[in-house]
Amino acid sequence: MNIFEEVKKNVTLWSVGSFYGMEVKRQGKHHVCLCPFHKERTPSMVLYADGYKCFGCGESGDAVKLVSKLCNISPLEAVKKIDQDFNIGIIASQLRHQALKRHQDMDEDKALVIGLNKWRWEQYDSLCWAYRAANKAVLTVSIEDKQYKDIIYNEQVIEYMLDILQFGSLKEIAELYCYIERGELNV
Ligand SMILES: [Zn+2]
Repeated sequence: MNIFEEVKKNVTLWSVGSFYGMEVKRQGKHHVCLCPFHKERTPSMVLYADGYKCFGCGESGDAVKLVSKLCNISPLEAVKKIDQDFNIGIIASQLRHQALKRHQDMDEDKALVIGLNKWRWEQYDSLCWAYRAANKAVLTVSIEDKQYKDIIYNEQVIEYMLDILQFGSLKEIAELYCYIERGELNV
């Protein structure tokens, strides 16, 4: 349900009409008043719970349209006005809800960044050890050895990762995280 429906559900048209200055009278089972949109001496506007109709000039609509025309404001301004004047509080509660949601999103983002930073330096530490081990391993094999190429390649990959961990942007670090922890190449 949108705010228009929500607000309209909370008021009757005759209460809105009389609040904004129309002289509403009860006539049988109907509420009637002088039409504010054309000149007349006897009431030809009928107010139902959810709408109005003037049998003199044909003007009709709902509470939002009535307030929008009476106060010369847009339908959105009218719905805000009714919400406020009748203390319905739907717009205020929606705003509160949105603010709360933004706050929660921010907290989640913060937690993610903190988690990622923690992982980053742990990973940096263990890769430093791996790098030293690779350095030592190079010394134990000769260039002709078929392991040699693998060790050098491994060393280069580690160097590249260390570089990202140390100087990379958060996005690059997040990509590296996905690659190392989940084997995914793209985030
Ligand atoms: Zn009229």
